[in-house]
Amino acid sequence: MINHGIERAPDERVNWKTSSGFLAAHAVVLLAFVTGVTPTAVVIFLVLYWGRMFFITAGYHRYFSHRSYKLGRVMQFVMAFGGASAAQKGPLWWASHHRNHHRYSDTDLDLHSPQKGFWWSHVGWILCDKHNDWNADDIRDFAKFPELRFLTRYDFIAPWTVAIASFLIGGWSGLVFGFFGSTVALWHCTFFVNSLAHVFGRRRYATTDTSRNSAIIAFLTLGEGWHNNHHYYQASARQGFFWWEFDVSYYVLRGLSFVGLVKDLKQPPARVKTAARIRDGSFDMGMFKAHWAKATVAVHNVRSHRSKDVDPALLEADPELATRRAHLEELIAANRAALAEHVQNALAHAEELGRLSRRQERQAGTID
Ligand SMILES: [Zn+2]
Ligand SMILES: [Zn+2]
Repeated sequence: MINHGIERAPDERVNWKTSSGFLAAHAVVLLAFVTGVTPTAVVIFLVLYWGRMFFITAGYHRYFSHRSYKLGRVMQFVMAFGGASAAQKGPLWWASHHRNHHRYSDTDLDLHSPQKGFWWSHVGWILCDKHNDWNADDIRDFAKFPELRFLTRYDFIAPWTVAIASFLIGGWSGLVFGFFGSTVALWHCTFFVNSLAHVFGRRRYATTDTSRNSAIIAFLTLGEGWHNNHHYYQASARQGFFWWEFDVSYYVLRGLSFVGLVKDLKQPPARVKTAARIRDGSFDMGMFKAHWAKATVAVHNVRSHRSKDVDPALLEADPELATRRAHLEELIAANRAALAEHVQNALAHAEELGRLSRRQERQAGTID
């Protein structure tokens, strides 16, 4: 826990070489000042931004990561290709890692834990080498399809196809502003769900993480901003739980279900929607854990800061002072370890208590 937000392991540092394409894409957008922005390029930008946002949210996220509805094999391929065209790597890479985000939310094993700072959860985790690979064990259900493995292995095919098409339709402006502009915007708005949606917005449901609901992020991401809802009940194809929580990706999926292209859209049961609300007194474990982690980091920072401040000449002049100091440091470290253990135990008990009371409520028929 001490490492939170302080030090990065070697494989967690930015690899400038492998990240050069990602960074260069940002620079390419600036060429729009040279190429100008034609009306065709604006249309390409809008179509590619909203179109690919749909494939990422409805396809990569709600289908491949969460299986919140069913698709035939052709539509499954269309979703995978559309998602891959957003240049966020292949479907199996994306979905397998996302499943782990939910499995280990806000812990050290969470690949983009917001507890490791905003930068890390936004892009740091992508720019380093740690998560280059993906594990087929995390996504056996989809890894069995050869076409999905192909799209994941050759993840450049889909974005290149869209880039070339943008150039053929809109010329240099179409490529620079239409394709690269929308791709960069799409990256950051998608990443906001990992970064901003864990620090900005409101929490309705008690979860074990720091997810929040934000209308602004929901607007930018076709409905993914209702992130606290999503962490609370991931199985749902619908992330806006109430009519005022607009969720465009879900509306499109609903439309596709009317023509039979999408089946079995999962909804949150009515009783789930009214359970585990923070305002009804449910213990907000996620925020409690986050505050504790933050406090630990603050204590650690103060201590390492003070160690640096001590004049080495002073310690040399009085060896006894150094011994006493070392002894005190040991004592503090031991006390902190004991305190951390007590808090961990208290958390485990609170979690168990929460589980028991939910089970009781279930048995009494108050919630699902
Ligand atoms: Zn998710
Ligand atoms: Zn999340």
